[in-house]
Amino acid sequence: MKVTEHLLNAKKTLFSYEILPPLKGASIDSIYSNLDPLMEFNPPFIDVTYHREEYVYDKKKNGLLERRSVRKRPGTVGICAAIMNKYNVDTVPHIICGGFNKEETENALIDLDFLGIDNLLVLRGDPINSETYFTAESGGHKYASDLIHQVNSLNNGIYLDDELTNSSNTSFCMGVAGYPEKHFEAPNMNSDIHFLKKKVEAGADYIVTQMFFDNKKYFDFVKTCRENDINIPIIPGIKPFSTKKQLNLLPQRFHLNLPTELVDEVLMCKNNDDVRQVGVEWAVKQTKELISYGAPCIHFYTMGKVDNVLKIMSNFS
Ligand code: FAD
Repeated sequence: MKVTEHLLNAKKTLFSYEILPPLKGASIDSIYSNLDPLMEFNPPFIDVTYHREEYVYDKKKNGLLERRSVRKRPGTVGICAAIMNKYNVDTVPHIICGGFNKEETENALIDLDFLGIDNLLVLRGDPINSETYFTAESGGHKYASDLIHQVNSLNNGIYLDDELTNSSNTSFCMGVAGYPEKHFEAPNMNSDIHFLKKKVEAGADYIVTQMFFDNKKYFDFVKTCRENDINIPIIPGIKPFSTKKQLNLLPQRFHLNLPTELVDEVLMCKNNDDVRQVGVEWAVKQTKELISYGAPCIHFYTMGKVDNVLKIMSNFS
């Protein structure tokens, strides 16, 4: 079932979870042991992130470094299919522009369609660690909106090979990313909203936000979207704060601000167990307020650890 149908049928705010494929070499049981307890809360859908290649450098005997391309977390499509098979829950694989040309994208979409996957989170992807700026694959897409156009074409039965006859159409529901604190490359919020609107005009069905720790950022973002005639559902993304290191890591990696009150509470913690507790309490407070506001669904970024998400969820069952 499509995410939009889940949202439409919901009588109250839904809860969904985003998981990462395990590091290469780990068994899929690590995914199941995280998901088993979460299933008690009947998630309508589970997102599975996509991780492209990274470059690692091996030191050779002669002292020189050799560059090697590795994908540390493969398995997005397989995990989506396995979750649907084991739990009978809808999945949302993340698909990105980076690293794919249009032909490879089309073939991946055909696989997903054949597996019975109805939803996609359509993204551009970040620059890889050897790039300063995102570079599209030769013959690939530069922006998420271009990838949405391709999925939309397939949804209308239009394949890259226009000589195909009697081609069947797909029916993917498409989510896209939105940034309450602005995407880091956008010169300003107006520009970012302008291009978010392009994604909606291209066919996006709903938006999932980047994580934020101050609900006002989300409320303002929704207001700005509505003022700009972006009227699709906007799902807030929540990440439970969990280590002292994240005081610097999250702003650096996700380009967001942390509220003073949260920073002060974390700084007073003696250890990361205390930080996790602060993170749980903060997320519970955020979630309660988002529910009162009428958020359609809360999207929890689990980042491979679910004990804190379970603690949060115990407040809402
Ligand atoms: P876009 O919408 O293409 O926007 C990128 C930038 O370009 C923005 O600054 C935008 O304003 C600008 N822009 C857009 N269109 C144009 C245009 N036509 N001309 C000029 N400028 C334009 N990354 C992964 O690799 N794997 C994942 O699984 C993943 N999951 C994510 C899930 C969520 C909910 C979120 C919020 C992000 C996720 N990301 C993931 C990160 C995402 O790939 C990065 O944030 C990336 O830098 C931007 O992706 P986007 O889809 O928002 O890009």
